[in-house]
Amino acid sequence: MIPINKPWIGEEEEREVTSVLEETALTSAARDGGKRVRDFESLMKSYLKIRHVVSVNSGTAALYAALLAAGIKQGDEVLLPSFTFVATANAVVAAGGKPMFVDIKKDDYTMDVSDLKAKITKKSRIVIPVHLYGHPSDIDEIRELAEKHSLDVIEDACQSLGSSYKKKQTGTFGTLGCFSMYASKVLTAGEGGAIVTDSNELADKLKMIRNHGMVEGNDTRMLGLNLRLPELSAAIAKVQMQKLDKMLEIRRRNAELLSKLLLASSKKYEVKIPEETADKKFNWYLYTVAFQDERDSIKNHLVQNNVGATVYYSPPVHKMPFYAHAASETKLPATEWCAGHVLSLPVHPHVTEADVDRIANSLKSTIEKQNVS
Ligand SMILES: *Cc1c(COP(=O)(O)O)cnc(C)c1O
Repeated sequence: MIPINKPWIGEEEEREVTSVLEETALTSAARDGGKRVRDFESLMKSYLKIRHVVSVNSGTAALYAALLAAGIKQGDEVLLPSFTFVATANAVVAAGGKPMFVDIKKDDYTMDVSDLKAKITKKSRIVIPVHLYGHPSDIDEIRELAEKHSLDVIEDACQSLGSSYKKKQTGTFGTLGCFSMYASKVLTAGEGGAIVTDSNELADKLKMIRNHGMVEGNDTRMLGLNLRLPELSAAIAKVQMQKLDKMLEIRRRNAELLSKLLLASSKKYEVKIPEETADKKFNWYLYTVAFQDERDSIKNHLVQNNVGATVYYSPPVHKMPFYAHAASETKLPATEWCAGHVLSLPVHPHVTEADVDRIANSLKSTIEKQNVS
């Protein structure tokens, strides 16, 4: 089976993790964290060209901390897509906010700015665009609208490390940007996350929030929790940061090859393939296609052929039991269409060119069979 994603871990990570164990420096509750935490943050800072990186122990924690740092109040409305991993919405609820679901565009699965505009109310405080699958959202338009209505922008860049918009890294446009280092993401620590910002004040707050609201120790000044990234995880993340360009290069090679193979017949098969634009460059976290008709049987055939094709995301968040009650009136036609028609294919660094060939051929033969039957 070619899995949908698989961490790219080698001897360098093993060496760095071993050194943490040998030093028994497993974690540090110091304000700036332990040595690996600081090393990782500084590497990510240069990569993103941003002033501050504050690491935490998950992408969910990053979103939660960002919402607290932005000063969210009980009942504040937070605009976000429903077509995302549920963590985006859960973090909003945990922080006391009210999620307001915005529809997406069928062409790239990111926030539909016209629907965002329609859903802004007097209670709106924050907007969270999600750069889903590594596709940058329409950041300029979202920021312009946010500015006009005094909303903070918190980017959910959990899937988009390495993606860029007008040559600038995603996650660096908003008041705050959130990243995840979960095992499936382009850069992993097993579990981990980071919040990035250019604001000194917000960075100070984030360091308090990840450490029980303390500054010097035992002096809690605001609500915080233990959201610290352990040194073992930071050691992995640090090495991964050094390999990021290489990993993204292989993803790009695979994605471009897959596009070439599928494009030759995409009209015939009515499959929509993901396309970059002059302004939007992808990290190719997931290679997601959409079919005009029957998706689930295509997926099952691919899985039978040992291609780990996976549906992200169905159901969309507003249809999940915890959210469906409050969102029963919510109509998100593009979101609902995409949840029923998209399929993600593996292009991660373990996927070889021969694998890409196999993926493309399996897909074509599956669709042919479908059309005949
Ligand atoms: C992975 C992910 C998260 C949450 O990150 P974790 O590290 O799993 O907590 C949030 N939003 C999106 C879009 C994600 O893909």
